[in-house]
Amino acid sequence: MLTVRNQTRLTFSKVSFKTVGQGSKATKYGIHLRQNMRIIARALAIVALATGLSGCIGAPVELTPQTEQNLRAQPPIRFLLTFDDGPSAARFWNPSQEVLDALLDNPVQPGIKAVFFVQTRAPRAGGSDIGRSLMRREQQEGHVLGFHTATHWHTNHRFLNPDELEQSLANGGADIAAVTGAAPSLVRPPFWSYDRRTFAAYQRHGLHVLLTDLSANDGKVWGITLSPRRRMNLTRQLSEVRELIAAGQLPAVDGVIPVVVTFHDLNRYTARHTREYLQILLDAARDTGVRTDAKPFYDDRQALERAAMVRTVKNTTQAVHLPGLWDWLWDSDSH
Ligand SMILES: [Zn+2]
Repeated sequence: MLTVRNQTRLTFSKVSFKTVGQGSKATKYGIHLRQNMRIIARALAIVALATGLSGCIGAPVELTPQTEQNLRAQPPIRFLLTFDDGPSAARFWNPSQEVLDALLDNPVQPGIKAVFFVQTRAPRAGGSDIGRSLMRREQQEGHVLGFHTATHWHTNHRFLNPDELEQSLANGGADIAAVTGAAPSLVRPPFWSYDRRTFAAYQRHGLHVLLTDLSANDGKVWGITLSPRRRMNLTRQLSEVRELIAAGQLPAVDGVIPVVVTFHDLNRYTARHTREYLQILLDAARDTGVRTDAKPFYDDRQALERAAMVRTVKNTTQAVHLPGLWDWLWDSDSH
């Protein structure tokens, strides 16, 4: 599968570079248009790829005796849960509310705290009365509010001009501070997409980029709300993270190694299955030979914030791994 994927990757890269780049004048508009076109071409390719690969999740990385031995020298892990895109403005069967209920009360570990990367001005999310009341609930129940967007849509920050980005960061910071009493310190860029310019803007606003180790692949980007292979998907990803842990590449904070997991609380499927997902994460740890702490999830806001901060991206030259095919979509040249 890897070979096929790499070949496909090459082919699509060639297509998007050549056809889109040809004949464009090097005006500011032309460059911008060309960049957008390239991203659109890649996005279309990714849909084709995602459709083709959805039935084909690789087997977990095999656990060798050497890795097993190296793991014993490492502290246990604790899952650091994050939810993007919310909170939902839905009047009925509100998915964000369901997620909050599940974190509060579940058979695995009651009172789990998570980071919610909110969209403060999206009418279907935090830009609604219901959304705002849910942000207040998130704060009251000890969760952390991080910044995702403060635009009408789930807009890529790299597509905002400097003034628009500045305004959006100021608005989002103020919206969150109105709920929590302090400006947010964490940002998750929409579509995991950032570059030197947007990263510098985050820094000016005291925002630190938190990416992820595991992704439930439950984003609504392509309208996919089902996740029939969620167990295999998370086990496979955790087996890759385990290799990093065994190699001593993930930092420990307060005696545990935080492993960041990303969900989308606007996704009704995720909301209905949150309790099951908690159990799936524990099962995935067991199946991949990763030791979890006695508290496998964070239940304290300060500890959660400390752990999240240690895992943030320090600068734009830092090598990062994005979930799924996003690495390929955004390309390393943007950082
Ligand atoms: Zn998002």
